[in-house]
Amino acid sequence: MTSDIQRTIVVTGGSKGIGRAICKTFAAPGVGVYFNFNSLETTGRKTADAIRAAGGIPKGLRVDVSSESEVTDFFKTVFDETGRIDVLINNAGITKDALLLRMKEKDWDDVIRVNLKGTFNCTKAAARIMLKQRYGRIINITSIAGVAGNPGQANYAASKAGVIGLTKTVAKELGSRGITVNAIAPGFIKTDMTAGLPEKAASEIVSQIPLGRAGTPEDIAGVAFFLASRDADYITGQVLHVNGGMYI
Ligand code: NAP
Repeated sequence: MTSDIQRTIVVTGGSKGIGRAICKTFAAPGVGVYFNFNSLETTGRKTADAIRAAGGIPKGLRVDVSSESEVTDFFKTVFDETGRIDVLINNAGITKDALLLRMKEKDWDDVIRVNLKGTFNCTKAAARIMLKQRYGRIINITSIAGVAGNPGQANYAASKAGVIGLTKTVAKELGSRGITVNAIAPGFIKTDMTAGLPEKAASEIVSQIPLGRAGTPEDIAGVAFFLASRDADYITGQVLHVNGGMYI
């Protein structure tokens, strides 16, 4: 066990975008920030450097959250090295967009597998440890699409709506053991996930946001930090909409 870790945070999909911003926001002396990613070791290294620069103790591992065995091994490593998990942030996610009639079965399955089953796998693995501690904070990153729907994203919207149902159910199951479970539903956030959108489509979306701009990964990270703080001790089973007013 690494004795200088007093608090352990786990962030899935922490190699870039919102996940990296969350890792940076939680990083502080004595905090072990464990994160995973599916493919890009190099981008993972950037996250580790940022955590270290803030005084945190980073560990980034390649883990496919949709694989139960990989997730089990990952959480075993976290527990063996730190003896605890204070906060889990289920952030890993993918899109494979197409209109319904053009959506391939594989695109449906892949998105549900990573976004929904991945959240289930990690929540279950972390909950085992949190139950013994009688303390834990679980924060799931869902999406505005899971609440409002979005043409071209039947798979993604269904996966994110599923995450909301999972959040509310697990909040009810674990509340009596000192564990809170909440979700954040971001709107339109500037990351690699949205970078492929044509300029015209992106400015069209921004023109419909009352606060007049796209969100940043830091806008989401700050809310995750709040939900993990003592100030949020009495909040569970909720979905916080962080979207500049895009969905009211
Ligand atoms: P991103 O920049 O594409 O980052 C996604 C992260 O998830 C990467 O670290 C990626 O690692 C990881 N990942 C993907 N598949 C994985 C798997 N099977 N196992 C483990 N890690 C995996 O996306 P983002 O915009 O930051 O999105 C983060 C979360 O916010 C997602 O859940 C997304 O649905 C949600 N969200 C985003 C927006 C937005 O506008 N950007 C809006 C609403 C909700 P690799 O690169 O190594 O695969």
